[in-house]
Amino acid sequence: EVPVLTVDGPTASGKGTLAHELAESLGYHVLDSGALYRATGLAAERAGVSFDDGAALGRVAAGLKLRFTDYRVWLGDEDVTDALRWESTGQLASRVATVPEVREALRQLQLDFRRPPGLVADGRDMGTAIFPGAPLKVFLTASSLTRADRRHKQLMAKGISANIESLRDDLEARDARDKTRPTSPLTPAQDARLLDNSEQTIEQSRDLVLSWWAERSPF
Ligand code: C5P
Repeated sequence: EVPVLTVDGPTASGKGTLAHELAESLGYHVLDSGALYRATGLAAERAGVSFDDGAALGRVAAGLKLRFTDYRVWLGDEDVTDALRWESTGQLASRVATVPEVREALRQLQLDFRRPPGLVADGRDMGTAIFPGAPLKVFLTASSLTRADRRHKQLMAKGISANIESLRDDLEARDARDKTRPTSPLTPAQDARLLDNSEQTIEQSRDLVLSWWAERSPF
């Protein structure tokens, strides 16, 4: 059985960074499940598919020609690494993520990332819906202000100007959609360990989770 460690939490809680740090320390693969929803949103928009048509969105998700290489993501022949990170793409992702047909289509794709020697899976429902048997599930929390502030710094570092209030409104709207959707709503798994990283450096969060992993995992 290939070990899986799940990292779930709201938008901009630092899941991606933490998941990559953990995967690097453990020598495991990483699944950025948000990228699959982002790619579905982007592909649907480009294909002119209506965001009210669940069946059509499900077909877009099922037919995604997505490839991950070192540090780059490809949709067909196109390098979509940057486009996937746009705020507008995040909004599209959040909308297609409410569609049950999309979640179902992306399910198998996510399970396929589970390969030896192990997987760190980052998302919203990794511990609840996709890998419910994972031996360690982490649920990150951080205030929306902290998260908006981090997102703001990331954007500034890339030379993109943004307004903290509107970033905060945007991520609160996304969280609300994630928490209230009927399929796999954002909620901690019953056996998840909660981690509020508002006051922690990435190294502190990583080392704490690695110590939990050492306790928990038989690997
Ligand atoms: O994590 P990230 O911001 O890349 O995710 C983009 C969107 O995809 C989220 O706002 C959420 O609605 C959706 N998502 C999801 N389930 C996942 C990962 C992401 O619903 N496992």
